[in-house]
Amino acid sequence: MRRNRLIMAAVILFALLAGLYSGYRLMNRSVGGQQEAAGTDSQGARADKNRKKKAEKDEKESIEEGREEETQVIRTPVRVEHPGFTRISRQEIQISWSDEKNPYVARYRIMKRKSGESTWQSLGTLDSDGAVSGRELSFSDILEDSTLQQSEYRVDVKVKDEDLYEGVEGTTVFASNILVCIDPGHYKGQNLVDDGETVYAEGDFTLELSRELQKILEGTYGITVSLTRESGRISLGGYTDGELDGGYISLRGEYAKGSDLFLSMHTNANQEGANGYETISQPVEIMKPVILANDLARESQTALDIGNAVGLHLAETSSRLGIASPGKFTRADSREDLAVWTDEWNDSLKTSGTICYRTGDDGQDYYGVLRGASVAGVPGLIIEHGFHTVPEMRRLAAEGVLKTQWAMADAAGIAEGFSLERVNE
Ligand SMILES: [Zn+2]
Repeated sequence: MRRNRLIMAAVILFALLAGLYSGYRLMNRSVGGQQEAAGTDSQGARADKNRKKKAEKDEKESIEEGREEETQVIRTPVRVEHPGFTRISRQEIQISWSDEKNPYVARYRIMKRKSGESTWQSLGTLDSDGAVSGRELSFSDILEDSTLQQSEYRVDVKVKDEDLYEGVEGTTVFASNILVCIDPGHYKGQNLVDDGETVYAEGDFTLELSRELQKILEGTYGITVSLTRESGRISLGGYTDGELDGGYISLRGEYAKGSDLFLSMHTNANQEGANGYETISQPVEIMKPVILANDLARESQTALDIGNAVGLHLAETSSRLGIASPGKFTRADSREDLAVWTDEWNDSLKTSGTICYRTGDDGQDYYGVLRGASVAGVPGLIIEHGFHTVPEMRRLAAEGVLKTQWAMADAAGIAEGFSLERVNE
């Protein structure tokens, strides 16, 4: 009993002391305040000091808050970059991307925006299985109709752990349902010109040019390209090289079946001794793009638009590069405007390039390669980019400048003709 009383007294004493101590602190604080108030500082200086103090305090607090926010917000961004595309058919485009982000992703969302539109639509989702096996993940966009169209796609992510990761909008890719068949004219070493300084072979240059054009069309515009040959040799339907430059040349055009456009890539030549110059030493005045249309291209406004746009871009490019006079292309907007191709017209130093046609005695396309495309139901154009009988052109080709410049001109014209305005970065 006594002991309990003692403990109780100790507790009360302690409580009293504690109370006294806090009372002393409170008093002390107010004394401090009074001291300050009673100091010699003028009111204005004191206000300034207080403002400064407050500002320092605010700054300190905001820095601390910032730190707090930072630690909360530093979440690792997860983003799908550089998705690819495959044109499965006129009505199906497949978007694909790597599975490397799988461990961080719960679900992918495939987004689409039609070219020329501003709003994105969600096409659907794909769940991640969390594993990285180097696979390609893919999603098929089934198009509402088969009109030629181009869209922009991206893949967004919903992350698994929102505290650690942050799903960031994916980078975009343009993809279209357009398929272009490109025929690199001739084959390895064909139409060789060796002037002692430069060696030029049309059959080699057309392959380089076509590959360059394929790269730009696919990478920049989302246009899928098929090539009639991918090396110096050509082999179609059991025939090769010389046969496919001669009696069976129409097989090149027939290869375009199912495509939206067929392009046969060439550089031009003239008759022996044209304009009073040696065949391989023609003046730059002869330079002009000559585009030959097959029967179906003559009826297709899109094909004519492409022919005109390609011709204008090529003429501008060649002039800029100093291998042609300015303005060497004249538009031909309808079937009636098209020129009939002749040797004299082709070789003249005075004529501008344009879209032409040439028919045989039977009224069909004269050129086998264009006839083949007509048989396949595809509008076809032969593009004679310029004259390899002009030494300056051969020199630029040998330097590697020309294939890129002409391919860019071709691609810009094709995109314009198909009304594709948007491009990949
Ligand atoms: Zn040729």
